[in-house]
Amino acid sequence: MKANTFKQNLTFKNLVVPLVIMVAFVGVGLWGFLASGYTQPLIMFGYIGMSLGIGLGLYGTLPKKQKPIGRRLTLLLVGLFLILYAIFMGQENSQLEGAIFGLLTGVVQMGVIHYAIAKIFGPLLFGRMWCGWACWTVMVLDLLPFKRPAGRLPGRWGWLRYLHFGLSLSIVLLLVYVVGFRDGVSGSIAVTWFIIGNLLYYAVGIVLAFTLKDNRAFCKYVCPVSVPLKITSRFSVIKIGQGAGQCNDCDACEKLCPMDVRISDYILNNQRVLSTECSLCQTCITVCAQDALKLSFGFDMGGKELLRERESKLPAPVAATSD
Ligand code: SF4
Ligand code: SF4
Ligand code: SF4
Repeated sequence: MKANTFKQNLTFKNLVVPLVIMVAFVGVGLWGFLASGYTQPLIMFGYIGMSLGIGLGLYGTLPKKQKPIGRRLTLLLVGLFLILYAIFMGQENSQLEGAIFGLLTGVVQMGVIHYAIAKIFGPLLFGRMWCGWACWTVMVLDLLPFKRPAGRLPGRWGWLRYLHFGLSLSIVLLLVYVVGFRDGVSGSIAVTWFIIGNLLYYAVGIVLAFTLKDNRAFCKYVCPVSVPLKITSRFSVIKIGQGAGQCNDCDACEKLCPMDVRISDYILNNQRVLSTECSLCQTCITVCAQDALKLSFGFDMGGKELLRERESKLPAPVAATSD
């Protein structure tokens, strides 16, 4: 990849994805405002769309070494905003359980709408971009030093997240239909649930990261939110695809992919990256010296999981690198 300057990178091609994402979010906010008469959807989705647009725009246009600034800025802008909004303005539980409570009790607040847009229907357009660019859990976990994972644990560790999802669903079903508790979406109990739930996620995520020497271990093995994300993101219109150059199978991108995707196995097979583990962080595009990768638009069926496995269950000592 050429060491382009900001001015050289400032092209329509580099700005089209940020613009599409920004317009889509602002459009959803506007639709929410017109349909409900409330300004919250416009404020929330307008803000998220602008933050994503700015971060993705910076990522596309900054020189190679500075690109991670765009993603880190967006993670911070969106993640912090959503946490503060849920606690102080909405008084909501924006954890997965809060969304399930909302679905079961018919109480639709911003947290529920946020799940529908960011984690269920939105991924049809932008895949798991939430995981790469907006998640408040990863906003913290990505600050840890283990940015170069040694690969996935072999075996069925990935199934833990399905168990976690089942546990969350069962607890809410029990509370709503057996105990008769229906205040899990908003109010003081809901906010307390949200705060304690997040602190637990951070604690488990940090312990796993240090144990497995992998910032994204929580995402790969434990996070229940990845379950709905994986279902719809397989149809994502935006995926990593073939760029202008030719892949020479150097593996540079795969060694830095935080989600252990075997990128070149797709590209050399003339496919886009069809893994539902891809968070569209674009690190692979940045590190590819051949310019063999780009964000692409298209229609295809994802869900073909080609992932790098680690050789032993014990993490190899791998030095941290930049984003
Ligand atoms: S898998 Fe879960 S914790 Fe990881 S980025 Fe996605 S939503 Fe956040
Ligand atoms: S896509 Fe680029 S970085 Fe990845 S293996 Fe091919 S040439 Fe190497
Ligand atoms: S395949 Fe590329 S965009 Fe997807 S998670 Fe890996 S490095 Fe990020």
